[in-house]
Amino acid sequence: MYNFDLIKPKTLADAVAAMGDGAQALSGGQTLLPTMKQRLADPGTLVSLTGIPELQGVCQGDGGIIIGGATPHAVVAKEALKYYPALAALAGQIGDPAVRNRGTIGGSIANNDPSACYPAAALGSGAIIQTNAREIAADDYFLGMFETALDDGEIVTAVKFPVPQVAAYIKFVQPASRFALVGVFVAKFADGVRVAITGASNNGVFRWSEAEAALSANFTPDAIAGLTLPADDMIADLHGSADYRAHLCGVMTKRAVIAAG
Ligand SMILES: Cc1cc2nc3c(=O)[nH]c(=O)nc-3n(C[C@H](O)[C@H](O)[C@H](O)COP(=O)(O)OP(=O)(O)OC[C@H]3O[C@@H](n4cnc5c(N)ncnc54)[C@H](O)[C@@H]3O)c2cc1C
Repeated sequence: MYNFDLIKPKTLADAVAAMGDGAQALSGGQTLLPTMKQRLADPGTLVSLTGIPELQGVCQGDGGIIIGGATPHAVVAKEALKYYPALAALAGQIGDPAVRNRGTIGGSIANNDPSACYPAAALGSGAIIQTNAREIAADDYFLGMFETALDDGEIVTAVKFPVPQVAAYIKFVQPASRFALVGVFVAKFADGVRVAITGASNNGVFRWSEAEAALSANFTPDAIAGLTLPADDMIADLHGSADYRAHLCGVMTKRAVIAAG
């Protein structure tokens, strides 16, 4: 690991000021610290976000529930349960207890790992990503594998999730890491259904528009019986071929509809 300085601000304003000189945010460190240990990152200065009370917690707000950017997965699993059970269940399936107690929602969606769970919930719910500078709709936020609309130094301060009528997340677990080999988040709102898929595509999380149209007309697993996704852009690795992942997308979507319904 290269040497680095650590700043531990107590307020968001101090964190934003500290980020000004090219520093990098540190949340749970579940991704960033292993990367630094392998000398694949040399941030120079880290700004820890976990000691800032205004970035913590789960509450109900206008238009949905609001989760502070530095809230660990274990807290979401517990405190979101009464507001948004499908989101709480997703958080409770992330990694293992150690990962859930350190990893944060802000770190997860800032990292935008193509197999991470929260990006599917955010895109599938039509969430709003709140930063120190602006609000970004999930549809405009996830730009590709490990790519987001965040500018350098921009901090995810909260994520606001509209709460659907019913929803479910079904993950086909990659057993070594517990990330999603394929994970599907289905959410049924009064004005239609959203389907977001993680783990499958070389372009990161995406919405399956054909399934959304079919399920908006008829919210049953049979509605998507004839639908398939092309394997062209799917991830192929030692855990599963592109064809296998394309197939799993359909299977997991049906299971999510059953679980939600
Ligand atoms: C063994 C293991 C299993 C895992 N399994 C799963 C799983 O099943 N599903 C899943 O979804 N994830 C999984 N993860 C990922 C984990 O849950 C974290 O979400 C992830 O590591 C990033 O969150 P973090 O808080 O640790 O971020 P960090 O590692 O601290 O930071 C990650 C990146 O985000 C940036 N960043 C952090 N916070 C913010 C912020 N608020 N604003 C802007 N930028 C920020 C950092 O600068 C860095 O670039 C797993 C991780 C491990 C190690």
